[in-house]
Amino acid sequence: MRIILFGSPGVGKGTQAKILSETQHIPHISTGDILRNAVKEKTELGMKAAEIMNKGELVPDNIVIGIIKEVLKSEQCSNGFILDGFPRTVVQAEALDSLFDELNIRDAILVHITADENEIIKRLNGRRACKVCGAIFSLTEIENLSRCPKCNAENSFYLRDDDKEEVIRKRLMVYQTNTMPVLDYYSAQNRAITINGLGTVEEVNQKLISKLKEKILVA
Ligand SMILES: [Zn+2]
Repeated sequence: MRIILFGSPGVGKGTQAKILSETQHIPHISTGDILRNAVKEKTELGMKAAEIMNKGELVPDNIVIGIIKEVLKSEQCSNGFILDGFPRTVVQAEALDSLFDELNIRDAILVHITADENEIIKRLNGRRACKVCGAIFSLTEIENLSRCPKCNAENSFYLRDDDKEEVIRKRLMVYQTNTMPVLDYYSAQNRAITINGLGTVEEVNQKLISKLKEKILVA
């Protein structure tokens, strides 16, 4: 399975990526992680990227694509992959398609996880972070607890700015504006499936797998 994972903030994309990776035995390739890794390992592209980031500039698409290429070519991706965090623009989607052509990859599918805006707000708004260790919990998980289950700090739970309603609405709007063209790009080529991210983690995962298998069979 070759998957490009896509979804608005708060739909549980990270959780789904983790399950998919475990059950389908394919690596979760987060572009943020592989970029950081390339920098750490001081690969040729990683050093170029570091130089640009040190100047406070955005790493250009061709370098990111180059780093993605190294990973997709490697043995760990021979049975598939879950690409996460790229593409975010149509230009990037086109560049990724050229790379797929080059690597003879023809079956990559965009999986779009979506959810109702009010549900996302409810979900994120109901999260609390520990200000000491940064762990995130749902309100039900920490009900009646005065200490963080992870680091044992006392009274350390708080609502992050990122999880406040006003900020979430803004993030969702930015997400919509920036990423909808990417979704359209894949949909127009019949290479996208959309999953409703509501429900338990298992329910969403089952929906995802069955839709994916359907899509792969049809293709
Ligand atoms: Zn903690």
